[in-house]
Amino acid sequence: MKLLNCQSDSEKFIGFLFENKVLNLTKGIQIFSVIYENKIKSPVLIEELLEIENLPLYLEKIVLFIKHHNLINTLITDTFKILPPIIRPSKIIALGRNYLEHAKETGYSAPKEPIFFSKAISSIIGHEDEIVYPNWLTRVDPEVELGIVIGKKAKNVSEETAMDYVLGYTIVNDVTARDMQTEDLKIANPWFRSKSFDTFCPIGPYLVLKEQIQDPHNLRIELRVNGTIRQKDNTKNLIFKIPQIISFVTQHMTLEPGDIIATGTPSGIAPIKPGDVIEAEIEGIGILKNIVV
Ligand code: MG
Repeated sequence: MKLLNCQSDSEKFIGFLFENKVLNLTKGIQIFSVIYENKIKSPVLIEELLEIENLPLYLEKIVLFIKHHNLINTLITDTFKILPPIIRPSKIIALGRNYLEHAKETGYSAPKEPIFFSKAISSIIGHEDEIVYPNWLTRVDPEVELGIVIGKKAKNVSEETAMDYVLGYTIVNDVTARDMQTEDLKIANPWFRSKSFDTFCPIGPYLVLKEQIQDPHNLRIELRVNGTIRQKDNTKNLIFKIPQIISFVTQHMTLEPGDIIATGTPSGIAPIKPGDVIEAEIEGIGILKNIVV
């Protein structure tokens, strides 16, 4: 199932893709809840769904209900803006140098253990939002990355059980002020500021539930600028795989439902400029598109 946060003129709602149409899941849950649960309030953002126990099963039940009661036409929605699939995660964790060819192009070898850093929550934007290029920077690069969305609280998790904590996947564009990062690296300063400018973390358009992706370690991943391919790889080349990443991160800190882990970018990093159209695509997940201004 592909979920998305939506904003119409008058309201926010959760949508889901059904035969290439977006159906209003918030309204579907509302009708279901009034009949079966005697509840009137329905979640309007994906984040609110995270409290529901066994969410995939619950959503399956709602979809069956929608089909069974012929609600599809009632729930089809046309005019809306797509919001980020998670609007306010407690944190964004991002992996550095997690594809060998990318580590090499930046002058490093494969890391011995995962390198992770954070991006400011305020840098999050959604599909088709604008990436704002600060005019005092001299080089800004986009980075396509597979994003993991955490489904339940995770602390000291083993690699064997790590996948139980994954709710699904999205696309992250880890936009980076490369000139600033390079200078900061030289003097052993952190990466936080070069990774955290406002609008430097496009995510979306969908949250794709884990059950829908057969093997997250075998997905084509690509970044295009104005239609020209810049980065092209496959998630099978991730140095540290998803279970290793989750286990490693949770030895340091608790992951909360809705937290996002960007798993690192393939080789092919290069600068962008205002006016460029950036498309980050991952097989089975979608295309995240943003324009630079
Ligand atoms: Mg990155």
